[in-house]
Amino acid sequence: MLELKTPREVAAMGVTGTFIAESLDDLEHRAHPGVNLLDLEMRARELIAQRGATSCYWDYAPSFGRGPFRNVICLSVNDAVLHGLPHDYELADGDVLTMDIAVSIDGWVADCARTIIVGAPRSEDERLIAATEQALAAGIAAALPGNRLGDISAAIGAVAAEYGYPVNTEFGGHGLGRTMHEDPHVSNTGRANRGLKLRPGLTLALEPWFAAGTDKIVYDPDGWTIRSADGSRTAHSEHTIAITDEQPLVLTRLSQPAAVS
Ligand code: MG
Repeated sequence: MLELKTPREVAAMGVTGTFIAESLDDLEHRAHPGVNLLDLEMRARELIAQRGATSCYWDYAPSFGRGPFRNVICLSVNDAVLHGLPHDYELADGDVLTMDIAVSIDGWVADCARTIIVGAPRSEDERLIAATEQALAAGIAAALPGNRLGDISAAIGAVAAEYGYPVNTEFGGHGLGRTMHEDPHVSNTGRANRGLKLRPGLTLALEPWFAAGTDKIVYDPDGWTIRSADGSRTAHSEHTIAITDEQPLVLTRLSQPAAVS
């Protein structure tokens, strides 16, 4: 089912989104070489508890995964890109780290991911991250009323093609609001002018992710962590957005538009 949100509900999702943006900033400042992934998990738990938020990941048990998930953040390093299970690992200089968080506050969910480089960057990793960030921006720019879902997918896919990165179509963006995963699925590549017509009140998590060398993925024995099949490095950029009568609202940023009464 596809549920359109009222402006007040969108504003409530923005409250959650701001908290996630603040949390990712906090974690990014702590993610240095020598820091253990489990320290970041514990800090995320602390932030969530202090805010009175509820993790959408804790106890999450989809058909894939050797669930239930018992962490509040996904931490994916280097060739790991999605659903990275926090584990006993010390970040090393030059590691590429993706942090992905979804929580709900007062019943409204937001979901956001960013990829950072720990310590000294490699230029090819910076390029890969820039590609996912540009693809996300392009997807957001296409999220206009009257456009179709395929316009968002095509915009994301065009940036990947421009950079020469292949696109996996198994995992992409999704609707969200009262829960973390709602209709529709948003592929990271597709044909313009196809699919669902975008309407004000539709809220989506857009999340382009690319591996440098392949669109194929493999799972770790933990059943969660998804890696590039060829071991190439990966990046992932995600925002929760709302389609409005005009420009889309990005709800997972530090500053929000004034609340609608
Ligand atoms: Mg996410």
